[in-house]
Amino acid sequence: MIVRTRFAPSPTGFLHIGGLRTALFCWLFARRHSGRFILRIEDTDLERSTDAAIQQILDGMEWAGLVQDEGPFFQTKRFDRYKEVIEQMLAEGTAYRCYCTKEDLEQMRAQQVARGEKPRYDGRWRERTDPLPGVAHVVRYKNPLVGEVVVNDVVHGPVVFQNTELDDLIIARSDGTPTYNFCVVVDDMDMEITHVIRGDDHLNNTPRQLNMLRALGAHAPVYAHLPMILGADGAKLSKRHGAVSVLQYRDEGFLPEALLNYLARLGWSHGDQEIFTVEEMVRLFDIADVNKSASAFNAEKLAWLNQQHLMRVPAVRIVPVLRWHLEKEDIQASDEAVLEQIIVAQRERAKTVREMALNSLFFFRPPSFYDEKAVRKHINPEALLLLRQAVRDFETLDDWTAPAIHGLINGIAAAKGTSLGKLAQPIRLAVCGGTVSPPIDATLAILGKSESLSRLSQALALWTA
Ligand code: GLU
Repeated sequence: MIVRTRFAPSPTGFLHIGGLRTALFCWLFARRHSGRFILRIEDTDLERSTDAAIQQILDGMEWAGLVQDEGPFFQTKRFDRYKEVIEQMLAEGTAYRCYCTKEDLEQMRAQQVARGEKPRYDGRWRERTDPLPGVAHVVRYKNPLVGEVVVNDVVHGPVVFQNTELDDLIIARSDGTPTYNFCVVVDDMDMEITHVIRGDDHLNNTPRQLNMLRALGAHAPVYAHLPMILGADGAKLSKRHGAVSVLQYRDEGFLPEALLNYLARLGWSHGDQEIFTVEEMVRLFDIADVNKSASAFNAEKLAWLNQQHLMRVPAVRIVPVLRWHLEKEDIQASDEAVLEQIIVAQRERAKTVREMALNSLFFFRPPSFYDEKAVRKHINPEALLLLRQAVRDFETLDDWTAPAIHGLINGIAAAKGTSLGKLAQPIRLAVCGGTVSPPIDATLAILGKSESLSRLSQALALWTA
C-alpha cells in the first residue's frame, strides 16, 4: 500500500497556524512512508471562497516548503464527477430524491420539538419513487437505520456513533450542486486517500463520510483527528492570539523550519527533544504519537525556537531570507559573502531574521544621524583624539580582518592607557550611528576598509566642527 495523505483547506480565510500544522502532519506522514501528499482546495462554498485566500494558501504552503506531490486540485473543477456519483448512487438506491418543501421541513421540525424529540429529517422520502412534478428536490444519502459506526481514530481511539443519530444527509441541493461532506467523500475515494489527517472539528463528520464511502464500495481510510490549538488563555486560537496568516510569520522573520518545528511539537513529541530539523521530523514523526489533548500556542517558545534554528543552520541558509528582508527595507544586497558575515556576526542577538535585517541596515547605509544621547556620552576631546589615532592606524592597516583590527584597537587603547570601550564606542557610533552592533572588529571588517574610513572621517568632521 502506498500512503496517500491530503491537506484539504477551504479557501474562506487565511491559512493559519492550525491549518499549517494539519498540512505538516499530512506531509510528514507521507514523506516518512515514501507516500504521496495531495493538496486539495475545497472551494465549493462559492460565496465564502476567494481567489486571494487560495493564493495565500498556495504561497503559505510554498514558503513552508510543504510541496505537494499531486494537485492542487479544486473541487469546483470536479462538479461533473460529483454529479456522476450522485446519479450512480440514485441508480444503486443508496441515495434518493427528497421532495420536501421548506414548509414540510419546518412543520416536521415543529412537530418533533413539540414531542420533545431532537429535530431531524424523518426519512419520509426514503422509499418513495413517485416524483412530484414541478417541485424542486434535493438528493439525500440513505444512511443505514440501525447499527453503529466505529471510527477507529488513531489519535482518539475508537469513537462509536449510532446510525440512529445520523439522519439522511443532503448530498445535492435543489440546484443540483453537491454539498461539502459529499464532495469530501468522492474526493477521498477518487484520490485513493489512505490516511485522513485533519482537525478534530471534523470528527463528527466522519461517521457519515465513512458510511458513504462504504456505500460507494470504497476502501475506508485511516482517520487521525488532531486536537485543536488553543491560545495561552485556554480559548480556541483566534486572531486575538496572533492566529494570523502563516505568511505573517514569514514577514516577521521566522524561518519556516522553526515554525514547522514549533507546530510539530504542538501535539506531538519524541522523548523530550525540542529542536528538530525537518529531516529529523520526517524520520521520527508518527501520527500514533500525537497527543489527544489540545495544546496551547506559545509565542515566546516559537521565538526561542526560531533563534535556536537561526544559530544552528548554516549561515548560507539564511542568506536568501536576510536578503528578502533587506529588500523590504529597500536595500539590494547582492554580495553573498557579506550577507553571510553579517549573519554570523548578528545571529546570536536576533530572534528573527527581520530583527537581524533591521539591526543590519547600517552595513548598507551610512548613518544619516548619530544617536544624540550617545554622542553626548561618548564623544569628548579624549575620544576625538583616540578616533584620530585610530583613523591614522587604520589607513596603514593592509590586513583588514577582524583579528588585525582587534589588535590595532587594543594597541591604541593600551598605548593611551585607556579601556577598549573608550575607543570602541566612539568608533561604533561613527560607523553605525548608534551604540548597538556586533563586536566592533567584526563590524569594521564587514564594512570594509574604505567604507569604515569614510564613515569615520565623516563623523570626525561633524564632531570637530
Ligand atoms: N475543508 C476542511 C477545512 O478546511 C477540511 C476537510 C477535511 O480535511 O476533510 O476545515
